[in-house]
Amino acid sequence: VETPEKPEIKGKAIPGIKNIIAVASGKGGVGKSTITANLAVTLAKMGFKVGLLDADIYGPSMPIMLDVDGHRPLAVNVDGKSKMKPVENYGVKMLSIGFFTQPDQAVIWRGPMASKALNQMIFDADWGELDFMLIDLPPGTGDIHLSIMQALPITGSVVVSTPQNIALADAKKGVAMFQQESINVPVLGIVENMAYFTPEELPDNKYYIFGKEGARSLADDLKVPFLGEIPIVQSIREAGDYGRPAALQTATPLEEAFEDLTRNVV
Ligand code: ADP
Repeated sequence: VETPEKPEIKGKAIPGIKNIIAVASGKGGVGKSTITANLAVTLAKMGFKVGLLDADIYGPSMPIMLDVDGHRPLAVNVDGKSKMKPVENYGVKMLSIGFFTQPDQAVIWRGPMASKALNQMIFDADWGELDFMLIDLPPGTGDIHLSIMQALPITGSVVVSTPQNIALADAKKGVAMFQQESINVPVLGIVENMAYFTPEELPDNKYYIFGKEGARSLADDLKVPFLGEIPIVQSIREAGDYGRPAALQTATPLEEAFEDLTRNVV
């Protein structure tokens, strides 16, 4: 009997963390952080222990999206070692590269500096027991992606795209990065964000502003799962700006949409 070859386990496991899911997008601005924040709070609502590492060095938006902007992680003593304590809100423990920068200051991270800060947030932090750690990766396919994938045994990856051709081309590169032989991270699937818009006064109309079902077809072409679609909704944007992810709006179609999406991811 042939046994399927086990993928090579890379990186150092973090004791107590069961699954690590990396969320990527090829292009910036497609809603990768928004989707990550909503997945995180939905997992927490489902009763899982959730951590979120905001590794987006170009625009760490998680502190604002989870309403902990201005907070700083405290140092705690764990078995005689000083560790960073993640900041917690909505049942999600979070560390962000944004905690290391001054507000309103543009910090240009050099690759090694960013990798060092990320390594500290991964290994010198008191994450405790987690069912899921989500990582909000920077857009694109670069150094940071490589160093995270070398540092950690990633369980699977999620690629976020809008249906627009220019975003899809980059999402395809994202999938290719995870599937590269030297990286070999399972692709859990593709999420289509900003799939369509429905005006309140015309609730039966769907406008495919960025094109129709592009991410769904890309998933089919690449033979990776299609995880679901999230429409363009003003309250998703507002919720992000106010720091209370839309998935927390109970008994709404959005809560349901994020629950369906989350179930497909895990
Ligand atoms: P990325 O992490 O890919 O750069 P963001 O999550 O920061 O993207 O989203 C970019 C912008 O689009 C933000 O202003 C966010 O609030 C908004 N946005 C993301 N997804 C949606 C959506 N489904 N509906 C409305 N606005 C959205």
